[in-house]
Amino acid sequence: MPVHRERTDPIRTPAQLELCHRRWLLPDDTGRAVPLPLVARLWRGLLDLGVLDASSEAQLERVALPPAAPADESDLPAAASAGALLAGAGAATWVSQVVFPEEGRRDPYGDEGPDPGYRDYTLYAIDSPRFLLVPLPPVELSCGACGRTGAPDLTPFGAAALLDLEASCPACGARRDLGRDRARLRSGAIFLLEELCARAALSIELPRAPRDDELPDAVVAALLRDAFGGYDELADDGVPPA
Ligand SMILES: [Zn+2]
Repeated sequence: MPVHRERTDPIRTPAQLELCHRRWLLPDDTGRAVPLPLVARLWRGLLDLGVLDASSEAQLERVALPPAAPADESDLPAAASAGALLAGAGAATWVSQVVFPEEGRRDPYGDEGPDPGYRDYTLYAIDSPRFLLVPLPPVELSCGACGRTGAPDLTPFGAAALLDLEASCPACGARRDLGRDRARLRSGAIFLLEELCARAALSIELPRAPRDDELPDAVVAALLRDAFGGYDELADDGVPPA
């Protein structure tokens, strides 16, 4: 039976007011290379369009792969952050900035005027043939070879996680198989593992769910296509802020 990407259901808790909404924009083909210069150009484009604030700071976290030492975290001028992405060879990197559309920033979801509240933009780039980003970390993985189901062995990274393609099933020893292993999200939805993985992704975190499922800003959408080729949008609602 084919599995399709779908919205994940929000989890309703008493603390929902403190929870946020995240939209993940990621290449629609896990196998497509996303070179660091394209990722850097996407971040530069968001600065040039005024989505991000070039006069303010950005945060950067980088971990060499495979992850052995703790990640390096630093603050840097946002204007320098696009260039810093280029230095992520052989590493997993995220760069992030929080902005407020009411302060004049362009809001890619605000086609009907700025929606109040913050936007957290975080761009992830994984420069490795062995590791992939998992934006919505599953709670359970099923081995496609033997059917064994268990908690996934993932490395947390920002609001996402890293998947090691050289990891193997503890029951049968088969390597992870993106096209055969299945992953269950906390919402209960089940996906083929490859549908949940990416070499790069942009997350946009908002305090309220955007009115549109798809990014309404055609100029920002074109920037994403330049970097990612075709892209998918995954919704994650009711999650703790990054
Ligand atoms: Zn197995």
